[in-house]
Amino acid sequence: MKMRIFAERPSVFRCYPVAMHTAAIFDKALALEPISHEEARFLYEHAALPEMMYVANEIRKLKKAGTPGIVTWQIDRNVNTTNVCVANCKFCNFFRVPGHPDSYITDDETYKRKIEEMFALGGDQLLLQGGHHPQLGIDWYEALFTRLKSWYPQLKLHALGPPEVVHISEISGISYYETLQRLQAAGMDSIPGAGAEILNDRVRRLISNGKCTGEEWLEVMRQAHKLDMPSSATMMFGHIETLDERIEHLVRIRAVQYEKPEDSVGFRAFIPWPYQDDGTLLQRVKGINNDVSAHEYLMTLALSRIVLVNIENIQVSWLTVGPKVAQAALYGGANDMGSIMIEENVVSAAGAPFRFTSDEIQKCIQEAGFSPRLRDQQYNFRPQPQGVTLVEV
Ligand code: SF4
Repeated sequence: MKMRIFAERPSVFRCYPVAMHTAAIFDKALALEPISHEEARFLYEHAALPEMMYVANEIRKLKKAGTPGIVTWQIDRNVNTTNVCVANCKFCNFFRVPGHPDSYITDDETYKRKIEEMFALGGDQLLLQGGHHPQLGIDWYEALFTRLKSWYPQLKLHALGPPEVVHISEISGISYYETLQRLQAAGMDSIPGAGAEILNDRVRRLISNGKCTGEEWLEVMRQAHKLDMPSSATMMFGHIETLDERIEHLVRIRAVQYEKPEDSVGFRAFIPWPYQDDGTLLQRVKGINNDVSAHEYLMTLALSRIVLVNIENIQVSWLTVGPKVAQAALYGGANDMGSIMIEENVVSAAGAPFRFTSDEIQKCIQEAGFSPRLRDQQYNFRPQPQGVTLVEV
């Protein structure tokens, strides 16, 4: 607490050496040089929020030099392959154990209906994820992706996530590389940064022990980058992690991005979002609530932009923080509002209360003083889809 009070004080009250060191780190960040773990910690503990947001916004302008006044957004639909899962994460209200009466595997007719509804709303992509089903291996996913692409060749599949890839590769007895290669050949276009939570294994053992380790998560992304499969990265924060574990998460993601082959896209975007606690085991049994304030979210988002100098896009999590904080974040390092997320089931099951239509997300961006532009998963601007009113820019 003491730390936060100090961080919120205007810089004029800070002692000279602290101000000098803060300025030196900001200079380094503004030169797009990677700051160290210790420097990131120093900023979080000593810089004021307006300073952090100012510097993060300047870096955003450097990274998005051609489009400084534009904030992008997307239309896609979350569809879950299955809610059967053996990972048993302590923050998840979505999954059901094998054999549970409410468990399901999505059938072909449901996919067709949901995809056609999504096309009618102007979407172009399924965010296709699900639980760690103990019986569904590589053959099942290959067949599913192949069917989806044969019905709808124009459909984009932003699918699975590193923990699911680890699970599929383990039950299929093949490497991460082969798993991804076969999925890519079957139609998987890109891989979301799901299941990263906090990459430190102390944290993972306590909140998601049945999921892959932090190093396995990063290794799947290294293999995806070798295949030039675009990816994103996320951080779910504000539960049991320390500040150092949060910073370690950012630094490890940055390191993997530096390792990617030169001609590979790597991580297209980074999305930090606060843990949603409503009715989760973590809240009910351990008493861990989501206490992330707007100040803490904006500090963490700004720090993400400052540390991740080699990642192009920082996305606001409007679903978890709401439109007002999301608008402020557009002045603190973020350049993308994410998707309207037609049918989101996982985070919403843990209490995320916000919803956006295509009109509302554009108005939210405009109210903040930016021009909204629809994009695809590769951050290319998309033309106006039929049936969607795009605001003139
Ligand atoms: S978060 Fe994903 S892996 Fe964890 S229990 Fe829920 S469905 Fe399973």
